[in-house]
Amino acid sequence: MPAFLDARSVPADTVLETDLAIVGGGPAGISLALALAGAPFKVTLLESGGLTFDDKTQALYAGTQTGVPYLALNGSRLRYFGGSSNHWGGWTRPLDESDFQKRDWLPYSGWPFARKEIEAYFPRAQELVEAGPFLYDETMVFSDELGRTIPLGDGGVYTSYFQFSKWKDNVDDLPTHFGQRYAEDLKRTPNLNVMLHANITGLRLAPNAKTLDHLDIAVLGGGSLKLKAKHAVLACGAIENARLLLASNDVMKTGVGNQNDMVGRFFADHPIPRDTATMVLFDGAIPSFYLAAQTAHGAIFRKTFSPTEEFKRKNMVLGSLTTVENSVSLDATGRAMVAATADALGIDGRNAKAFSLGCGMEMAPDPDRRLTLTTEKDALGLPRLKLHMTIADSDFAHYRDTMKELGRQLLLAKSGLIRLNQASRKEWLSVMDWGSHHLGTTRMHADPKNGVVDANQQVHGVANLFVAGSSVFPTYGSSNPTMNLIALTLRLGDHIKSLFA
Ligand SMILES: Cc1cc2nc3c(=O)[nH]c(=O)nc-3n(C[C@H](O)[C@H](O)[C@H](O)COP(=O)(O)OP(=O)(O)OC[C@H]3O[C@@H](n4cnc5c(N)ncnc54)[C@H](O)[C@@H]3O)c2cc1C
Repeated sequence: MPAFLDARSVPADTVLETDLAIVGGGPAGISLALALAGAPFKVTLLESGGLTFDDKTQALYAGTQTGVPYLALNGSRLRYFGGSSNHWGGWTRPLDESDFQKRDWLPYSGWPFARKEIEAYFPRAQELVEAGPFLYDETMVFSDELGRTIPLGDGGVYTSYFQFSKWKDNVDDLPTHFGQRYAEDLKRTPNLNVMLHANITGLRLAPNAKTLDHLDIAVLGGGSLKLKAKHAVLACGAIENARLLLASNDVMKTGVGNQNDMVGRFFADHPIPRDTATMVLFDGAIPSFYLAAQTAHGAIFRKTFSPTEEFKRKNMVLGSLTTVENSVSLDATGRAMVAATADALGIDGRNAKAFSLGCGMEMAPDPDRRLTLTTEKDALGLPRLKLHMTIADSDFAHYRDTMKELGRQLLLAKSGLIRLNQASRKEWLSVMDWGSHHLGTTRMHADPKNGVVDANQQVHGVANLFVAGSSVFPTYGSSNPTMNLIALTLRLGDHIKSLFA
């Protein structure tokens, strides 16, 4: 079986040629390469790192930050074969229908197409992340196997499901690490070459700026190469996709695809505040599948509370997925409040127990939450990035509205109550964690004034350059991105096949 190529062993200044270049060997790049296996054209996948972590390559990801405290740019992603799937959590959930819709009350919202456009690709994406049968809320069989569901009265919050990636035959119960898991499949693919230690440092356009001519490849501590490609797909993650476009500013002075100053704007993640609320269950028993993921129906599940589509629309709130994190003890005031409430409801609250809730929230799109180039350069001479991070108070307010609704429904069902724990912005930020789900920096929009790529993920104005991954998400939803971005990339694979037909 042929080994992967190593850019360090290719003589400096060699000019290579291919039909399709895929830049980046994370879940997006690898899924695309697998989707194009056997196609009647030559594919070259270029990966910056090797098969394992190394400090010098990882350091290329470093950058600076301003604004709301956020994860370090080289700490929330991994730069070697398999990308950030080498340390992802494996949580999966499809985006909701409303995540694709224009919401009149939410500026910049809406995808150029509806969810049904990518639904056909969900089963294969689900297979690639190895999360078992595609069940979630759609085809879930509500049975005893999934434990009791905490009773909720009628209202705007329902019990939804995460599923989890589990790397087949892996003894350590890890989610799928795309590099290791699919290396042999990629090696077996006759029309594919994978080149490791190949850092793309420039997207070189033809003089008319309408097509990509070639890619500059740099080797750490070594020379440089060129790759001429008929078509190219950037799949470097949402931070690096933007950086490469911005830094390639020799022909288009503002950067490739940045004629309308859109590249790098609208960065987003999923805020994951901890201890957002305390939930008390009067009967004291937390049903299985809430506190931890468990196996049923050939998949791994965890229950979560989600606002319904109708509640989101009517109350103008963003998506959120609330999980039960751990049990907590109530102080004397809390216990008295629970006893009084149980009394008023005419139920027995003596066994009541409390649990801390956490959540993954959707953020509102913000053009000022953005990546820009700095004057500092990395070891390959590429400008480093600065991230300006923001979060709106209204994002927290949306979540509080959803939690109030959950509390109302628990009381209605006489099953429990909710106490909201964070009120001020300072309090929210003090419990903030982040998903490391980088999103939005090359957003998809039919109009080049409002986006970087079109509905086919082609960079506006550059006929043969495409972008894959969650950088193209124009609005984000609250679901974890990876299975969704893979579905979208498989759709891009079909489009690319049609270009060569
Ligand atoms: C700690 C953590 C936990 C996460 N948990 C979850 C989760 O539970 N569920 C979920 O859905 N998502 C999760 N994610 C997010 C998930 O990892 C990403 O959505 C996914 O990895 C994105 O895939 P990608 O291929 O677009 O980008 P990446 O995984 O970032 O891959 C990009 C690839 O491009 C390469 N590259 C970068 N620059 C260059 C260059 N200039 N030239 C050549 N190659 C380059 C990189 O080395 C890398 O291999 C998590 C992320 C982190 C960090």
